[in-house]
Amino acid sequence: MTERHSGSFDAIVVGGGLAGVAAAQRLATHGHRVALLEKRDRLGGSTALSGGWFALSGTAAQRRLGVDDSDDLFLSDMRETGGGYADESLLRALVDGQAHAVEAIERAEAWTDELKVSAGMTVARAHLVRIHALRAHLEAGAVAAGAVIRRGLAADRLVVDDDGVIGVEAGGEVILGSSGVVLATGGFSRSRELLELFVPHQAAAMPYGGVGNTGDGLRMAWLLGAGLADIGHVSGTYGQHADTTDDEHELLTANYLGAILVNAHGERFADESASYKVLGSAVLGQPGRVAFQVFDAVVRARSRPGVPLSDMERLEELGHLVSAPSIPALAAGLGIRPENLERTIAQYNRAVAEGDGDAFGRTGLVNGVGALTPVEKPPFYAYAAVTAMTSTFGGLRVAPDAGVRRIDGTRIAGLYAAGEVAGGFHGASYMTGTALTKALVFGVIAADSLAAADSPAAGADAAAG
Ligand SMILES: Cc1cc2nc3c(=O)[nH]c(=O)nc-3n(C[C@H](O)[C@H](O)[C@H](O)COP(=O)(O)OP(=O)(O)OC[C@H]3O[C@@H](n4cnc5c(N)ncnc54)[C@H](O)[C@@H]3O)c2cc1C
Repeated sequence: MTERHSGSFDAIVVGGGLAGVAAAQRLATHGHRVALLEKRDRLGGSTALSGGWFALSGTAAQRRLGVDDSDDLFLSDMRETGGGYADESLLRALVDGQAHAVEAIERAEAWTDELKVSAGMTVARAHLVRIHALRAHLEAGAVAAGAVIRRGLAADRLVVDDDGVIGVEAGGEVILGSSGVVLATGGFSRSRELLELFVPHQAAAMPYGGVGNTGDGLRMAWLLGAGLADIGHVSGTYGQHADTTDDEHELLTANYLGAILVNAHGERFADESASYKVLGSAVLGQPGRVAFQVFDAVVRARSRPGVPLSDMERLEELGHLVSAPSIPALAAGLGIRPENLERTIAQYNRAVAEGDGDAFGRTGLVNGVGALTPVEKPPFYAYAAVTAMTSTFGGLRVAPDAGVRRIDGTRIAGLYAAGEVAGGFHGASYMTGTALTKALVFGVIAADSLAAADSPAAGADAAAG
């Protein structure tokens, strides 16, 4: 195919999810000529499907509700959740860069009042943000400041000269970005090939996430020798109904409100307060790769209509949350032997009453936090859920300024990565809300780093090592 030169910019951003629009908005409002390429007809990616939870510490919302959080506690919770595998310098950059996220949410007037403890947290740190309003505000800001957005155009390869990355080739066009390229192509949750290559034990998870998220950014950067981080730890998220569609996401974590998880034999198999990524792996090992969230009227009353992960009303409307007046009736409806479920619940209730000795070490609702309650008040409820590959939290190896590193640790001049395409932040597991926070914060950091380098070579020199 003949290459056409179809434009010259200061910077190219590849991908129109949160990281991409954040980078494009930042570059454009600072006077840089920027083009954003999105392979799908509309921007959004996984960001548009997401629950909208952001992990942030030291916020006004936390202060209002008397939540005692700090940057150091955020950092140590992420370290703990990642099992010691996460890159400390990236965690520090994420925590230090939170102000970028708070400012953007503030400007978009996208806060809600919802704040909760979720996977990987020891205090209430998950802030629910109106994600569509935030993404749309950043996109509008980018366009208003002169960014050119090209929809339906996939970047195929990076263009390099002696100084480094200077643009992309997309559909036979060469689009130049003299200061470099920001890869914001999301993860590879829609690439069966890459999932089977890196995490074959997860390949049975239900594919989910943005339909365009097929690992393009990884492949483009590999051709230039980019390294990887956390890739073998990628795991699916437990809690999604098997009938969830590509357009409308459905996920419940009633276990963080007090439900137990049982398999098709009516047996528990894990500490239900663990990260839903840990539970995702555990459920893949259960018969039929399904687990039922089983709970009683006390937990049902904790539903939060309209709040992702906790909205039971909507699941009832969809007919996916079932109920019964007794445990045997509930079990019969699920195809579980009633005596098994009764025995499991009796054992659990005994452990809750005694305060310790739970067979799977559960000590709290989520991550060890929150008082457990017995499953005893009718009616009883069950939600059948599977493991879905919603996001792939391993990716390209990057420096704290978002510059992409080769496998030997040296920098690829002019190449930056932000959002789910970048690895190193999560290690072995994942704290709720850190993917969106990472996308927004590092979209801005990548833009600033690229802008600070007059040319790709200058960027490599300035940030060497
Ligand atoms: C159902 C669901 C719920 C979630 N909930 C949360 C949550 O509450 N909190 C949280 O922190 N995280 C959550 N996540 C994860 C989070 O949404 C993502 O990690 C985050 O949105 C990634 O942002 P991004 O900008 O990196 O990528 P995306 O938003 O996925 O955007 C990447 C874009 O790049 C485009 N693209 C790909 N390849 C190319 C190419 N070659 N050329 C041009 N464009 C390309 C894609 O089409 C896509 O539009 C959730 C994910 C899912 C699926």
